[in-house]
Amino acid sequence: MLKRRKRYNQRYILLALLAIIIIILLIFLIVVKVNKNKERKIEEARQAEIERIRLEEEKKQEEIRLAKQKEKEEEDNATGVIYLTFDDGPTTTTTPKILDILDEKGVKATFFVLHYDEKGEELIKREQESGHTIALHGYSHEYKDVYSSPDACIESFKKLQEQVYETTGIKPNIIRFPGGSSNTISRKYYDGIMTEVTQRALNEGFSYFDWSIDSGDSGGAKTSDKVYSNVISNLRASKKNVVLMHDFSGNNKTVGALAGIIDYAKENGYVFRRITDETEPIRHKVNN
Ligand SMILES: [Zn+2]
Repeated sequence: MLKRRKRYNQRYILLALLAIIIIILLIFLIVVKVNKNKERKIEEARQAEIERIRLEEEKKQEEIRLAKQKEKEEEDNATGVIYLTFDDGPTTTTTPKILDILDEKGVKATFFVLHYDEKGEELIKREQESGHTIALHGYSHEYKDVYSSPDACIESFKKLQEQVYETTGIKPNIIRFPGGSSNTISRKYYDGIMTEVTQRALNEGFSYFDWSIDSGDSGGAKTSDKVYSNVISNLRASKKNVVLMHDFSGNNKTVGALAGIIDYAKENGYVFRRITDETEPIRHKVNN
């Protein structure tokens, strides 16, 4: 009797052990399954995020493509294209006034800047935020320094490029030589320098631009009327109206002429563009 009960108990214990093992196994399986599900969901979410980013990027590219297509159509239908360029800034007396007019008229332009101080830095940032192109005119405009040697000239652009990069996060490679690539004043300091630096600039990845229309605001034009007529009388039904103007200190002639030039050009079917890496350069014949 006692023996039978003992055997009975043993069987009971065995069964209980078996049940515990089965339960543990079941729990283990459930945990594995839950974890797998969790991992699958994380992976699905990751894939969905990748797809979302891809679609967003695709949409952005399509928007850029459409905007470019629209710009091109506008240019094809226009009388001509005008690139307003402002050299020798930024200055606190002139640059903000030029920027106000450009903003008001909805026109984008190109600023060939010189080395600047803290106040200038704010203006450079404003130029960038307004969607204009910031290009390089040189760390210095002193002909005797810039054109003392090819190294000095290239260094002048590189030093300024670094400063603009620190201010804007962008390294411009569009440049304009002080006095233009056709200047002869450089001969006084270094014979043949322009022949050498125009080539070197291109080799170093810079793209230089001259102009097709001189507003005369740094020389012959003494009044706003003269600046105005210098520009509008030279506009051509061409995609290459690159207008040379200046935002150096106190240049009220150009401030006074600018709105009228823009209005005249718009009324006559011209469109305004800023210079970009895609703009075909306009270049003078090198004379030194
Ligand atoms: Zn200049």
